[in-house]
Amino acid sequence: MPWLSNISGFPRIGPKRELKAATERFWRGEASQEELEQVGRDIRRANWAFMKDSGIDLIPSNDFSFYDQVLDTIALTGAVPARYQHPGGHVGFDTYFAMARGLQDEGFDVTAMEMTKWFDTNYHYLVPELGPDTEFSLSSEKVFEEHAEARALGIETVPVLVGPLSLLGLGKSADCVGEDFDRLSLLDRLLPVYEEVLARFGAAGVEWVQLDEPVLVQDRSATELEALRRAYERLGAAPARPKIVVKTYFDHVGEAYPVLRELPIEGIGLDFHRGGHNHQLVHDLGGLEGKTLFAGVVDGRNVWINDLGASLGLLEHLAEHADDVVVSTSCSLQHSPIDLDAETGLDPEIRSWMAFARQKVGAVATLARGLSEGRPAVTTELEANAAALGSRRTSPRTQNPAVRERVGALTDADSRRASKFPERREAQQAKLGLPLLPTTTIGSYPQTAEIRQARTNLRQGRLGPEEYEAQMKAEIERVVRFQEELGYDVLVHGEPERNDMVQYFAEQMDGYVFTQNAWVQSYGSRYVRPPVIYGDVLRPQPMTVEWALYAQSLTEKPVKGMLTGPVTMLMWSFVRDDQPRSETCKQLALAIRDEVADLEAAGIAIIQVDEPAIREGLPLRRDRWEEYLDWAVFCFRVSTSGVDDTTQIQTHLCYSDFGDIMAAIHAMDADVLLVEASRSRMELLSDFRREGYLQEVGPGVYDIHSPRVPSTEEMAERLRLAIDVLEPHQIWVNPDCGLKTRGWPEVESSLRNMVVAAQQVRQELA
Ligand code: GLN
Ligand code: ZN
Repeated sequence: MPWLSNISGFPRIGPKRELKAATERFWRGEASQEELEQVGRDIRRANWAFMKDSGIDLIPSNDFSFYDQVLDTIALTGAVPARYQHPGGHVGFDTYFAMARGLQDEGFDVTAMEMTKWFDTNYHYLVPELGPDTEFSLSSEKVFEEHAEARALGIETVPVLVGPLSLLGLGKSADCVGEDFDRLSLLDRLLPVYEEVLARFGAAGVEWVQLDEPVLVQDRSATELEALRRAYERLGAAPARPKIVVKTYFDHVGEAYPVLRELPIEGIGLDFHRGGHNHQLVHDLGGLEGKTLFAGVVDGRNVWINDLGASLGLLEHLAEHADDVVVSTSCSLQHSPIDLDAETGLDPEIRSWMAFARQKVGAVATLARGLSEGRPAVTTELEANAAALGSRRTSPRTQNPAVRERVGALTDADSRRASKFPERREAQQAKLGLPLLPTTTIGSYPQTAEIRQARTNLRQGRLGPEEYEAQMKAEIERVVRFQEELGYDVLVHGEPERNDMVQYFAEQMDGYVFTQNAWVQSYGSRYVRPPVIYGDVLRPQPMTVEWALYAQSLTEKPVKGMLTGPVTMLMWSFVRDDQPRSETCKQLALAIRDEVADLEAAGIAIIQVDEPAIREGLPLRRDRWEEYLDWAVFCFRVSTSGVDDTTQIQTHLCYSDFGDIMAAIHAMDADVLLVEASRSRMELLSDFRREGYLQEVGPGVYDIHSPRVPSTEEMAERLRLAIDVLEPHQIWVNPDCGLKTRGWPEVESSLRNMVVAAQQVRQELA
């Protein structure tokens, strides 16, 4: 029996970000729907052909998406929230993108659906809104069309869908439905849609269908496990259906394992990277007799080569515990960049340690071949792999003794401010003299085409460094004047000089390398290009002080120093996997601490250290939360505790639910916390209340992820909600996040409305 190979999903953005360009053209009305769809077809064809040519046996389809795979599943099942006034039937592009981005059109004004982190990745999905009135019916042909499209090209694929438990589990209660609504109560209504999908694929002679159930790697209650059993007993009993593989990823399946083993389905997918414990489960609780194990041995989430020798051993071992083993990726490759071959600028030694999606496909194929034909058939690959692993292990480029010594000497005292918050508050109030409900923004202002062009010109040598600096300074002045004119209390410089909030700093630190093309989707048409930490991190000299001083020189109002925190630097980088993440994070914390000290010494009174990624680092299983939060909070505090009481430390968190890490947020001990809140309609404020949160909070009153301009009344209403729950003197007024992806006209209108809202509510309070 040959060993088969499988890929859980391939990046869909196109090797040159073709999907982004096409989607944004479509949104601007510059491209037709047909043009956008053609770009989608081209990307899919290239992906399928690549996997086929690489020798992959089980190739995914419907892993493509024009925005998000959960949104696709919402469309598939017709679970469109009422405010989009979808009449039922096929969900078209208009409704699809309205759910994703909100829509403001003659007489029509709807907000987007809430977006949140996809497990512990930096990908964001749209949160299904579910209530007792939610009805499901098959409402999209996408999954069938894409399968047929591949078949027409002579490529048989495995359609991939978000499974029913994950669709419900990842959702939230719709508006006007209590938080305690039991989403699982919708299961029986939802399953017929999946049955219909299975029936149609069965009739089309499809061999395998992949149902992704990543919710099974989080702690699940007995009721949820019972729902798992019920759901798949029902789907398993569907007549004339294809084989079903339920895939899990990002951690081990724990208590779900015994249930998964018994399900009347043919395949189970397990992650053997982040879910290393799966190995033990298979061992201790019995193997997968009668089933095919899709063994995720090639990590889909990092940029490092696989240890092929170790994987071969693991796969052979796993083969003793299942009927059949398919070599697979640990998760969809959508989380890794596409092609290392496109990276011509990388140092050759470091490059030899790395692999992107295409190279990972190659590794999966090599493993399957090595097992089917014997190791000699892949000798060349194995030798090259062993040599690269050896060079990485022993290379002096990965270690800086001075950095290691400093990290080793860190103590608890390095993570504490001199005084407690009430004293600091007084000292800061005396120095800053801010009004009630101070207004501010999160940092970035629109990164206009001119700004990006200037950066490109600088990089390509068409613009000298002095001219570039002059242009950025002009932009900073524009942003400062704009805020002064609108009457903002605490200003920012707008971050025009930053290509990205992580990369900008990483470029000024040792231990990092950069790619030219290694983009991964963050949400919708927004992609990120994480830098790569390969060695010890060091900040050799100040990174932001000159810009901060320039901005401050333009105004009497305080301008915030603006930094990215150590945890976010870590989370939004590809991190070395040859030492614990906590060690790398402490190195980053010291680098930021030095910068904070330099800003303070230069006279900057307020320093914002952003940690939007702190929650996404949370392990998926609760038993490991404490350990993570301990070091993550410690690192943030190390980076911010070296200052005087009078220096105000702000931080910004976004993109997530913070309810369950409230104690850790409290422990970060920032003087002011600016936090995303508008998409969830300020729901998190009660969590602050419950936590007894003393420090100041700016719950975002306007959603910057959408071009929609919020009205004054709408924002005033949110502020009233905030002062109902917390003390008025605790509240700041600010948007949800930075404005860099927005255009000036909408920013100007929105920010004007926002100050007016603040003034109105101040008056009401007076
Ligand atoms: N200061 C950053 C900005 O305003 C924060 C961005 C973020 O939270 N993602 O862009
Ligand atoms: Zn943010």
